[in-house]
Amino acid sequence: MSFMLTEFENTRIAFEYRSDKELKHARFLFSSMSSSALTKVGMKLTSLAIALRLPVNGIIKHTLFDHFCGGETMEEAAGTAAMLGKYGIGTILDYGVEGKESEEDFDKAVPEFIKAIEYAASSKNIPFISLKLTGFAYFALLEKIHSRQTLTADEEAAWKRVYGRIDSICKAAATNNIMVLVDAEESWIQLPVDELTNAMMERYNKTRVIVYNTFQMYRHDRLVYLEESYRDARSKGYLLGAKLVRGAYMEKERVRAAAMNYPSPIQPNKEATDKDYDEATLFCLERLDGLALFVGTHNEASCLKVAKYMLDNKINGDTDRVYFSQLYGMSDNISFNLSYLGYRVAKYLPYGPVKDVLPYLMRRAQENTSVAGQTGRELLLINKEIRRRKVD
Ligand SMILES: Cc1cc2nc3c(=O)[nH]c(=O)nc-3n(C[C@H](O)[C@H](O)[C@H](O)COP(=O)(O)OP(=O)(O)OC[C@H]3O[C@@H](n4cnc5c(N)ncnc54)[C@H](O)[C@@H]3O)c2cc1C
Repeated sequence: MSFMLTEFENTRIAFEYRSDKELKHARFLFSSMSSSALTKVGMKLTSLAIALRLPVNGIIKHTLFDHFCGGETMEEAAGTAAMLGKYGIGTILDYGVEGKESEEDFDKAVPEFIKAIEYAASSKNIPFISLKLTGFAYFALLEKIHSRQTLTADEEAAWKRVYGRIDSICKAAATNNIMVLVDAEESWIQLPVDELTNAMMERYNKTRVIVYNTFQMYRHDRLVYLEESYRDARSKGYLLGAKLVRGAYMEKERVRAAAMNYPSPIQPNKEATDKDYDEATLFCLERLDGLALFVGTHNEASCLKVAKYMLDNKINGDTDRVYFSQLYGMSDNISFNLSYLGYRVAKYLPYGPVKDVLPYLMRRAQENTSVAGQTGRELLLINKEIRRRKVD
């Protein structure tokens, strides 16, 4: 078998799970998002409508939500996971509630995650859950720890509680043999995210990888940090879980760096990000005895490089040391074709009340506005499949 970019062009495999009606709905959605002006206005109107408590949940639910989310409850998401499982694709349960800022909400999230872990353990289709530290800690507290300021006694206690929450989740995950992906967030809170995740990996990754940290390769310092993390894991006797992404907060990062007059942590251009991403995957592929690699990307060339390396180096596609992953509702051509070829694939599947997953949906709408980029690709493939079905 040899790999060419056309490997991901098989739209029959990519969209087998979508009915004609769903496919046309997806075409409508991606066409609408391809207008950046329309998306901007839509996003502003949606935020306003939610703030004014206007009944817009139904509209969001039948458009963005249905396409990008698994459901409003874990039970609904489980139905989507079972459907993906029919195609050999695993699910990453992502309780997508964001932007909570109270101890009560942070505490309430813990049993919700443990419930998801226990559910995942009872299903053969759900190998992972994912979490964001900002779902369990005040953003301001993370910022303060990141900048190495001295904490007050109350803040020390709050941080201990955060540690306890994450430890309970990772412990439940280890007991149930479910893997935990800790998402990377803004660079100005990333230090405590890294430190806490490293502590969890040291505790729970002794014999197999339960916890993964996320490395954003749009940051110019992350390739070196990945190498350091690997050395650290080796010297402390645990396995590194390395989830590699390019990074989702580029605009925000650049704007903040310029406004606050410090050097931007972001690479000078896309080529530099791509180069580090591919170098990072290679670094991991060459060290699979000591780490597990999670390739979180919609970039076809990066996925092909990893798949080809595995083929050339006789690494079984079914190894649990390499997972490919894309977001639910995006890049099905990569996910379904890789799974069809025997690689391990898992889709990020957010779920939760519509109003709580709104920040996630906004990020999806925003990143899909460029016709030249991902949206153009999605539309092209959806149209190709609609045409193919008419002819067959
Ligand atoms: C399974 C999965 C999990 C994810 N988890 C996280 C997470 O935990 N944290 C997180 O931050 N993101 C996460 N993301 C989002 C991810 O970081 C990217 O924003 C998104 O996937 C687009 O990058 P790409 O590799 O898919 O595609 P591409 O289209 O190849 O790359 C686009 C990305 O390249 C980078 N880029 C674009 N232009 C430039 C430029 N001029 N200079 C430098 N860099 C540039 C940006 O990161 C941009 O998002 C996740 C994505 C996936 C698929």
